[in-house]
Amino acid sequence: MPIEREHCHCQDNQRHFLERAFESLQLKAAERELLLASFRETTVSIPLRPLGTDDSDICTYTGYRVQHNHARGPFKGGLRFHPSVNLGEIRALAQLMTWKTALLNIPFGGAKGGIAVDTNHLSPHALEILTKHFVQKMAPLFGVHHDIPAPDVGTNPQVMAWILEEYSKNHGYTPGIVTGKPPELGGSAGRLQATGHGVAFLTEQVAADMSLPFADASIAIQGFGNVGSHAARHLAEMGARVIALSDIRSGVICDAGIDIERAQRHVAETGWIEGLSGTDPISNAELLELPCDILIPAAIEATINCDNADAVQACMVVEAANTPVTHMAEMTLRDRGITLVPDLLANAGGVLVSYYEWVQNLQESPWDLDTVLQRLEQRLGQVYEQVRDHSRQRQSDLRTAAYELAIGRVSQAMALRGY
Ligand code: NAD
Repeated sequence: MPIEREHCHCQDNQRHFLERAFESLQLKAAERELLLASFRETTVSIPLRPLGTDDSDICTYTGYRVQHNHARGPFKGGLRFHPSVNLGEIRALAQLMTWKTALLNIPFGGAKGGIAVDTNHLSPHALEILTKHFVQKMAPLFGVHHDIPAPDVGTNPQVMAWILEEYSKNHGYTPGIVTGKPPELGGSAGRLQATGHGVAFLTEQVAADMSLPFADASIAIQGFGNVGSHAARHLAEMGARVIALSDIRSGVICDAGIDIERAQRHVAETGWIEGLSGTDPISNAELLELPCDILIPAAIEATINCDNADAVQACMVVEAANTPVTHMAEMTLRDRGITLVPDLLANAGGVLVSYYEWVQNLQESPWDLDTVLQRLEQRLGQVYEQVRDHSRQRQSDLRTAAYELAIGRVSQAMALRGY
């Protein structure tokens, strides 16, 4: 697939989506500027000498934390450890968190951070040291009521545990400083499956509104990591037929429906989805163009773009990943009458359960899994109804409606606080 500018910049795509909402809300240039401005952008250098080597082997990594907006509550957002991390990408993702927390109406603002690093080239011990040095430099920004990091691409509950340990050295045991922790350290039940569970729940809700018979629906999912696998599992539990799955290497298809538990075991044993018994091989490109009812991109950004949007055959696309559909592809899908459930809503289950984790930490009282999932579904259902009703009222698409609601709440909080 040729690499074009359109494919590469999640910040460009988001900017287009935002501009559309700004236009429809008739915001003045100064208001737009204020809404887009970061509160603070911090860049740090983190020198790391691999164990057992001399000084000349020192590598200097760059770490970022962009705190976009905290009009509605403490900054909240994940940490991404990936070679492609840069300030522009982190800034766009921090803004996305502001709109996501506002759409959910939870008392958080938006932030994002990360380190430009290929974690595949670091030993677990080196990763621990890198994480702890990052926290030492960023600690003045963090705080239970200031800024609360969480996992993102390349980070996981173990990394969150190291963040908790490093922060607690100077502040006492403070589990509420970070979410997505292991349950043994105050992590919430259900946090791992929260995003995928929310994706599956919302898919069913939107399908019902489209009068799409869910029990017969055929679903293709690109990406079988945290989000894709939990979404697949819950969709199958709800009776849908997941006919295709993929990972970065390749995909598999079975028209009768894939046994998701078996697929998870196969990936745990072999590392990849390919070779899953009872399925035929398929490429990622073929998966996106399959004749199916629902397509769920749950891998990386811009996988549905101007090269393949014309070939999508599903009648509904659910953005489980962040920005998997480019703004140009979105126009094509809309012209073709395909319903798109935007990332802002579709994958919001993760930060919602992060909020529940923070609440449990502040209350020093854990909730059980049923309580977490029940509250997740209740809140996501309410938010979807608000977005759907707003889009009908304004005769706009779901993404613009979601942005309008979120921007309205942030603007109101900023005005009340006298920004
Ligand atoms: P993950 O790393 O656990 O899984 C990603 C999956 O996508 C893997 O199966 C990987 O092999 C596959 N993949 C990677 N590159 C690919 C490519 N070029 N083509 C096809 N498949 C590819 O990540 P995740 O946590 O499941 O996150 C997936 C997406 O969801 C990301 O966009 C992330 O930002 C977004 N998201 C995640 C969460 C969360 O709670 N994990 C919350 C909100 C949004």
